[in-house]
Amino acid sequence: MSKLDDVVKEIADEMRHMPDRGEVASYIPELARVDPKSFGIAVVDAEGNVAVAGDADTPFSIQSISKVFTLTLALGKVGDRLWDRVGREPSGSPFNSVVQLEYEKGIPRNPFINAGAIAVTDLILSNHLPREALGEILRFMQFLADDPTITIDQQVAASEHRTGFRNAALANYMKSFGMLDNPVDFTLGVYFHHCAIAMSCRQLAMAGRFLAQFGSNPSTGYAVIQPERARRINALMLTCGHYDGSGEFAYRVGLPGKSGVGGGILAIAPGKASIVVWSPGLDKTGNSRLGRIALERLTSRMGWSIFGA
Ligand code: GLN
Repeated sequence: MSKLDDVVKEIADEMRHMPDRGEVASYIPELARVDPKSFGIAVVDAEGNVAVAGDADTPFSIQSISKVFTLTLALGKVGDRLWDRVGREPSGSPFNSVVQLEYEKGIPRNPFINAGAIAVTDLILSNHLPREALGEILRFMQFLADDPTITIDQQVAASEHRTGFRNAALANYMKSFGMLDNPVDFTLGVYFHHCAIAMSCRQLAMAGRFLAQFGSNPSTGYAVIQPERARRINALMLTCGHYDGSGEFAYRVGLPGKSGVGGGILAIAPGKASIVVWSPGLDKTGNSRLGRIALERLTSRMGWSIFGA
């Protein structure tokens, strides 16, 4: 057993006994069905060793973690033109805030708040049918995770489609400023479905390896993206990946990270590891409560914070 294996097991044991586990998201009704006691962790290090504990092989709804991968794909398609549609500043607002979008004339603050991610999805969709765009996103996840079995949870997608009124408001608002190229329904359909991709901690940690390995995929040795682009995606994850909880996450964990309302967090220790934790209970900013605590313990015990010990 390596130190990493010991630390990962230790943290999963500690999380099992935590009394305050946060609140499971219920605004997407299907997400409320998940067991709030679940906890999983998976770490893939630079040598390709995988350390897992708890429910690391149970698929969960990746939700906004998908935004890291859609951003990567969209940058590959349109390059820096993407930044005409989306900013790169922390929002300091909840992930589904409407008010900021009006002040800023339909240009979302960053690609990780919902409005920004919808704009990014719209760029991927251009010149394609929704099912082609979605197929491309899903195949990208399967390729990165080296696992063709990854699928979309259609129940979760349908549940969000029925109840996603705020996202519809954000998308319509952007459309009114001419900031979406495709029909709102098409863009939202693709967005809801990529948020509903179901993956386990292990699969998602595998998919995140290219961000920890300066853009390259260790299974093939080939570049997924250039190192500078990986560095910049990591920077955005650090500053914007947890919405109005991003400052607190950087302060406590000290790694680029992206959360989802399914309770997952992907965190990147550049050059060292791709890490995923999952616990469905959320804090008031919509980020996994135990996920953040587990990552804080992991980075301090492994000395992995990008800011030093
Ligand atoms: N699909 C979710 C939504 O749009 C994603 C939000 C999240 O994970 N923070 O509301």
